Amino acid sequence: MPDVIHLLPDSIANQIAAGEVIQRPASAVKELLENSIDAGSTSITLVVKDAGKTLIQVIDNGCGMSETDARMAFERHATSKISSVDDLFSIRTKGFRGEALASIAAVAQVELKTRLHDEPLGTCIYLEGSEVRSQEPCQTPAGTIISVKNLFYNVPARRNFLRSDAAELRHIIEEFQRVALAHPNIFFSMYNNEVEIFHLKPGNLRQRITTVFGSASNEKLVPVNEQAGVVKIYGFVGKPAFARKTRGEQYFFVNNRYVRNNYLNHAVFINYADLLPPNSYPFFVLFIDIDPSSIDINVHPAKLEVKFEDEKLVYGFVRAAVRHALAKFSVTPELDFDQEQSLNQIQAQQQQAMTNRPSSERASPGFLEKRDTANWEKLYEIGLKTQTEFTLPSDLSVEGEDPASEESSIRPIQIHCRYILSQIKSGFIVIDQQAAHERILYEKYLRALNSHAPGTQRQLFPRTVHFSPDDASLLRQILSDVNTIGFDIQEFGQDSFIIHGLPADIQIDGEEQQALLEQILEDYKNNLTVLRLSPRESLARSLSQRAAVKAGKALTVREMQTLIDQLFACEQPYLSPGRKNTFITFDFEELDKLFSPRQPAGKLTS
Ligand code: ADP
Ligand code: MG
Repeated sequence: MPDVIHLLPDSIANQIAAGEVIQRPASAVKELLENSIDAGSTSITLVVKDAGKTLIQVIDNGCGMSETDARMAFERHATSKISSVDDLFSIRTKGFRGEALASIAAVAQVELKTRLHDEPLGTCIYLEGSEVRSQEPCQTPAGTIISVKNLFYNVPARRNFLRSDAAELRHIIEEFQRVALAHPNIFFSMYNNEVEIFHLKPGNLRQRITTVFGSASNEKLVPVNEQAGVVKIYGFVGKPAFARKTRGEQYFFVNNRYVRNNYLNHAVFINYADLLPPNSYPFFVLFIDIDPSSIDINVHPAKLEVKFEDEKLVYGFVRAAVRHALAKFSVTPELDFDQEQSLNQIQAQQQQAMTNRPSSERASPGFLEKRDTANWEKLYEIGLKTQTEFTLPSDLSVEGEDPASEESSIRPIQIHCRYILSQIKSGFIVIDQQAAHERILYEKYLRALNSHAPGTQRQLFPRTVHFSPDDASLLRQILSDVNTIGFDIQEFGQDSFIIHGLPADIQIDGEEQQALLEQILEDYKNNLTVLRLSPRESLARSLSQRAAVKAGKALTVREMQTLIDQLFACEQPYLSPGRKNTFITFDFEELDKLFSPRQPAGKLTS
């Protein structure tokens, strides 16, 4: 039998390898833009025709290349950016594999014009399918102009595989935006079919974001800025009002390189839990700066993925930083010790991690911290009391009252039967009793729905209720959830039902029971269509709003204390299910400012 193995010619080997790096016009755009950045350019223009299928051209004013380098640049594994294995662990440039130009040249017609700044003449080189067809001196501005024509002209399978112009252009714009966001100090412009679609003057990050996403985004940005040891995070997160239905506008950059990392996204998203309607995502542009030796970006040729030596630590850091930022801008109230504690913890962990390196333990991607009630204990000098079931309305106030003691000075006070005032370490806190109780019940009902452990109170006399056919069919549909939440309702034929029991928090009888159920069905329809809540969320929300203690109801000290304890044991104590603030804090610092001495009248006018 004859030998059958032979080496592939270079041109085919290159084409195969190119498939890994260059999948579509947008991948070529990314590589070319990154080369221009690595070349130290301060001005970069991208020109595409027919969504990059006919032409992708990048014009920069970077360092340019010598005659020899211009030729070398198209050789596989030719790079000026690393020269030893050690360099791989301290990468600060975008490129380093020396593959991009070789790959592009394998599947397109490429013209490169380039000139070093101190040379009078530049060089123009032309390649087709990896082969140099010509090279000659030429007049050209200092810097580089690279034109990629007819991408995949020699790989019909790939060319046919490309999507519509509109779809390919969207990919290109996405790459362009990522690069432009990461480098606000560089001028960028972009043309498609001779129309300028971006013109981004150099500026700071906020200016760059608002020119990329529209000036309306400006007021919706909340700055993030945190440093813990060698990790730094900065950038912006969007206020909840800026949330979108798409997952598109989330940008993470690690050492200025755009990365996709769902684990990190989660660290941001979790701070928005409950602040956003379901299926919408917060906007963010965040930069993490970290010692390059503690990450691995060489996971994938397109370098979109990043591995952290200690992923869990970075997760905690991102989460705490975003929480702090949102709290600081009163998007969600937060208490500073909470923040400081998390960041201090991270710093401590980091030091520990440094001493234990290399750490073999990696965080599991599903890692999810549970809110730690210990934080809230610190908030209250009195500490958390034993958790008693909070049953309202209740008239046992006299029996429940504590005798006067040294604790009396830190007892909560009710104001106009609506708000509860309570002392905390850093000042005082004002709680909206109704909003707070709604939140408590909401989480309780959600727990019941998820664990199937309702607290039902059986009625001595079951009650029969009748509904319209419409409502009856809806009730039948959600009956098992309604019962899981604490009702005990049975079908009784002909649009009738028998109520055997109610959730333990609800003490109403007769007519009111039917009204409550009608109200729940009504809320349910609204929640589902208008707010697009899930069936369970909707039920929990509706019932919590119906069952919560109302403004105007006098509370005993014990009831208030229980309410406070239970509120701060909630996973998201800040907002009611209807998204009202449940409490507001007043710090000494703010109070002292308000009470500071006034300026003498004379000084004010000078
Ligand atoms: P890499 O960026 O990984 O080094 P590339 O194939 O993208 O590999 O580029 C090869 C080399 O060509 C680069 O290392 C750089 O020296 C040179 N080069 C590419 N584009 C430019 C440019 N726009 N300006 C100056 N030099 C460039
Ligand atoms: Mg490159």
